[in-house]
Amino acid sequence: MTGSIAPQVWERFTSTTGFMPEDEARALHAVALEAGAGTWLEIGTYCGKSTVLLADAARQAGARLVTVDHHHGSEENQPGWEWHDTTLVDESTGRLDTLPHFRPVLDANADVLSAVVADTRVVATWWGSPVQLLFLDGNHTEDTAQHDYRAFAPHVVSGGLLLVHDVFPDPVDGGQAPWHVVQAAVTDGGFEQVGEYGSLRVLRRSRSVG
Ligand code: SAH
Ligand code: MG
Repeated sequence: MTGSIAPQVWERFTSTTGFMPEDEARALHAVALEAGAGTWLEIGTYCGKSTVLLADAARQAGARLVTVDHHHGSEENQPGWEWHDTTLVDESTGRLDTLPHFRPVLDANADVLSAVVADTRVVATWWGSPVQLLFLDGNHTEDTAQHDYRAFAPHVVSGGLLLVHDVFPDPVDGGQAPWHVVQAAVTDGGFEQVGEYGSLRVLRRSRSVG
């Protein structure tokens, strides 16, 4: 899987804090380039590391990208947890706040990128646009991962792509919620798997759900 990523895009990707290995990042960019023009939706912005690549691919594909995050981190990002980063804490509130750290990515991609700073449960109440590409990389608890899948995957158009990150079929390697989402998508969600790159799964909608 090769994709041409401009040096300045790759530089911004590597200098942005986040959770996206380089090989999976290149795959994400290349796969996204195959998605149709229209609206792309990313669930889970953090500081915008994956957003850098999706926004660049969206620009090339003639698409626009919406990225959703309340910017206060997931459970595992909170103080005392495995993936906590003390440099992302707002000292005036004591809360994790990735929004200021995401700002440079937003500004660099303002021509194609919209940020929705909200809980996915709120966004789900009003979202209505058809989606050409859905990237699920938000909360990894079973409850919320399933919610995000069930709320947003029905908007993926026929032939559109569903990308799921952090998929680990073996519990030794990581949490199971994204894997359960992939299983649901291929079992009764109308998707078929068309690619696998590390923990990134690529699915395509073969039929719409009734
Ligand atoms: N895509 C990012 C990583 C996202 S980490 C990267 O490439 O680095 C997961 C993100 O999901 C966190 O930033 C967290 O704030 C967000 N999140 C968790 N639960 C959420 C919810 N219920 N609504 C909105 N965002 C949520
Ligand atoms: Mg991830």
